[in-house]
Amino acid sequence: MGKKVMSIFGTRPAAIKMAPLLLGMERREGLESVCCVTGQHREILDPVLRLFHIQPQFDLNVMEPGQSLSVLTSRVLAGLEPALERAKPDFILVHGDTASTLAGALAGFYHQIPVGHVEAGLRTGNRYAPFPEEVNRTLVSHIASVHFCPTAVNRGNLRREGVEQDVYVTGNTVIDAIQSIVEKDIPFTDPCLQGLNYDSRKVLLVTCHRRENYGAPMERIFSALRALAERYPEVELVYPMHPAPAVRRPAERLLGGHPRIHLLEPLDVQEMYRLLRRCYMVLSDSGGLQEEAPSLGKPVLVLREDTERPEAVEAGTVKLAGTQGERILSLASELIESPPAYSRMAKAVNPYGDGQACGRILDGVEFYLGLRDRPPGQFSPSSSL
Ligand code: UDP
Repeated sequence: MGKKVMSIFGTRPAAIKMAPLLLGMERREGLESVCCVTGQHREILDPVLRLFHIQPQFDLNVMEPGQSLSVLTSRVLAGLEPALERAKPDFILVHGDTASTLAGALAGFYHQIPVGHVEAGLRTGNRYAPFPEEVNRTLVSHIASVHFCPTAVNRGNLRREGVEQDVYVTGNTVIDAIQSIVEKDIPFTDPCLQGLNYDSRKVLLVTCHRRENYGAPMERIFSALRALAERYPEVELVYPMHPAPAVRRPAERLLGGHPRIHLLEPLDVQEMYRLLRRCYMVLSDSGGLQEEAPSLGKPVLVLREDTERPEAVEAGTVKLAGTQGERILSLASELIESPPAYSRMAKAVNPYGDGQACGRILDGVEFYLGLRDRPPGQFSPSSSL
């Protein structure tokens, strides 16, 4: 029997980013993988698990409509108690910055089980944006024993907070995920996506769901998107809407009823990656899409005021558009009208990974657990791409 590693996560993005790691773990003789999902994003989490054939041994199923962050976090923490007692893992892996991440790390600490933090060291420096993620991930950095940072910038953030031991730069596992499932020219399953002409039209992929954009910022974003569709007859906007009612209500009110704006249900990851391959560009407040889209050569306008991903801005793969209508419109118009501006962004090098992050993380776990002599190799975008 190998050392038991329990992965704890509960949201769609965490599942996408942890899935290739879990699959990699199954091929490591010294490690035994135990998966515990919290179910924080129930209906959009399960399709990801199915796609990667992951059957969790523990499912806390904590999703309740409209529950507060305090209730959610405490339910995850309490739900983990029996799971940890039964599984008795040697090591815990948490991912990112959600309520499940914080509660998973804290539960591990209370049981004196070492915690590895995947996607460590992202910071905006603004404790309320993203909310509550900025504080979640900062707290987890001070609970975890091993830190797997996607980039050197993330490692620098940890260093400034005095976290220097067992910190590795690995690249982001989302690049491993996209490389393992992106397929060439498989037809869409969604009839709306099937019906669009990706050669003669400019298909803009939109996602917008972050809590700090709720209310006025989201309304400004949606109004700007509608104005964009009205300004350019060649534009088709595709928006797979997050299930949260605080997103759906304004989206339907401000974007509904336009023949070239397509409001869809959430897409499964494969369909999402197909769309990402074929779209013209992305407008989004999602973190994951900022990392994924550049792998497929698509410019991203980030619909947020702050970013914890400055490497992408620096590399030129994304631009911070904010939430003011005029700036969103002017940046989007430039990318629609100016081929040189478009190709500068589309051709920039993705700073987030080379598809080998999972191997480095598993090497790091094995090294920590004494199953290997050497620490993992480190990711560096210039040497790998
Ligand atoms: N995603 C998806 N279907 C959708 C919208 C997003 O599969 O309809 C994927 C997307 O490709 C990315 C992840 O979900 O991998 C991003 O999740 P989300 O935007 O919820 O969260 P964030 O990245 O901001 O944490």
